Amino acid sequence: MNKKDLTNLSLLCLTEFLVSLGLPKYRGIQVFSWLYRPKITDFSQMTDLSKELRETLAARACFTWPQIAEVERSQDGTVKYGFKLDDDNYTEAVLIPEEGRNTLCVSSQVGCAMACGFCLTGSIGFRRNLTPGEIVGQVVRVRDWLLDTNDLSNGLNNLVFMGMGEPLANFDNLLIALDILTQQRGLDFSERRITVSTCGLVPQIIELGRKTKVNLAVSLHSVDNSTRSKLMPINKKYPVAELLEACRNFPMPKRKRIMFEYILIKDLNDSEADAELLAQKLKGIPCKINLLPYNESAGQPFKRSSDARIELFQKALWKAGYTVLIRSSRGADISAACGQLAGKMNS
Ligand code: SF4
Repeated sequence: MNKKDLTNLSLLCLTEFLVSLGLPKYRGIQVFSWLYRPKITDFSQMTDLSKELRETLAARACFTWPQIAEVERSQDGTVKYGFKLDDDNYTEAVLIPEEGRNTLCVSSQVGCAMACGFCLTGSIGFRRNLTPGEIVGQVVRVRDWLLDTNDLSNGLNNLVFMGMGEPLANFDNLLIALDILTQQRGLDFSERRITVSTCGLVPQIIELGRKTKVNLAVSLHSVDNSTRSKLMPINKKYPVAELLEACRNFPMPKRKRIMFEYILIKDLNDSEADAELLAQKLKGIPCKINLLPYNESAGQPFKRSSDARIELFQKALWKAGYTVLIRSSRGADISAACGQLAGKMNS
């Protein structure tokens, strides 16, 4: 008999499954909360369940998280984790320690179909969606790794879906993962501490706003349709005006803002005129802008903008009243920086 993998079930679905085994409803929350406690790997550890119940669960269900197969540390403190999946596929998550907080960047797919021209993940193509358990498992494993290594006293504070894959192209699994991550008896992250980043899938942006309260980040990189379409093929389907309209209507409480990511590429999107057009197009959208100097990788055709050019770009946006940060590249020496995650997939 096929065992049910409990890591793919929301609290509601887990409860329904247990009820289908003839168990009372309250067992749902009890088993669910055990699954997400630190270092629980076997039903036998769920000590307040009767022996009979633990045996029933072991016979009908299973739960396993992806194994951390490799850990690489950057000189700047960034840590990249390689996960081996059950079917020998491979995915990656990146821990970014900062003053007073630790952010984990998680993956949502193996590879990616979106083919953004500046991204190594895009260059390997799409292999498959990650299951909810494989998404949440990255968080579970890194949390347990931190407990084992005593590495960071604060544990994990923030999650960003900016690793391999386009999270909104794996929408159903993303929603289940978000449910588990934010359940108090699950991993108990506040939605304010979770950011989902997209290359611009407009219908799913609208749905995400309807169904969750997580933060939205948009990989923008240009507001000129011809330049953006060259960099990001998705722009041909959902052009700039449609994307920005969805952002304008994204439901947000006061003080919350959309984060626009903008990779600066030499002579492509980094002129003062580009900055002025960006300022004009974003008018009326509560937002912050992150400028990311391009990480040059072997085989990629683009070059990084000069520091002077980056500063001019930032100043033009400041002048227009925007909050703009130049985000220093973290983990470039271990290929963990933005757009560099491809790791074992390329080998
Ligand atoms: S930038 Fe994101 S959406 Fe684009 S190819 Fe890379 S992983 Fe996919």
